[in-house]
Amino acid sequence: MIYLCRYSPHLIDFCNYRITTQHPDNITKAMNCTNYDACPECDLLLNNSSPRLGEKAYCPRCGLLLSHPKKQSVERTFALSIAGFILFFPSLLLPMVGITVLGSANTGILLSGVIALFKESMWPVAIVVFLASILFPLVHLSLSLLISGHLYFNRPNRFLVHWMHWMQHLDEWVMLEVYMLGIIVACVKLMAIAPLQFGWGLYAFIALLIITTQLTAGLDKKLFWHHIALLQKGHNHGR
Ligand SMILES: [Zn+2]
Repeated sequence: MIYLCRYSPHLIDFCNYRITTQHPDNITKAMNCTNYDACPECDLLLNNSSPRLGEKAYCPRCGLLLSHPKKQSVERTFALSIAGFILFFPSLLLPMVGITVLGSANTGILLSGVIALFKESMWPVAIVVFLASILFPLVHLSLSLLISGHLYFNRPNRFLVHWMHWMQHLDEWVMLEVYMLGIIVACVKLMAIAPLQFGWGLYAFIALLIITTQLTAGLDKKLFWHHIALLQKGHNHGR
């Protein structure tokens, strides 16, 4: 016996649909009469109707947050991606922190930490820091800009599905906040030695961190996948 569940815009109503036989044909028929998704956590089958803006849908069995539609997600993601892309280069290239000790002035940029680790022969750590703090955030921003730009202008592209998959995988690897914590710890320790001068690179990096956090929080993946499916369907029909 299989239980299929349907969630209302307000709350998930548990088990208002039931198949009374285990025969595979009946299950397939029931699955085809409407669209169902499996809960990513416990595999419970759920009607994939979406809650309204601002409301949340949870799995009735394991309590996982299934859907949380966000207002103007495509437009916000597109705008934040442009802002993040513009801020990325000053945060990478401009001096972040300067210090003068015994008349000798030194400034650090975002790449300084990676270069210092390479010079200390700590290759694996240097590579991980480079990937997590520079390359992956840049690729993530580029992908979100490409995807949201295509959705915003309703431009189909055969790579949209791949880009979306890559962006979801990269979510776990963008660790600007860890790098920020490292900067704060280094600054606190250096302040005991000499006064610090904070540069535009640091301000751009803080702004970039805020923007990437907002971008991740405001991205409605379900809506994006839905838009991509509609664009691909329209593109295939137009051929
Ligand atoms: Zn579940």
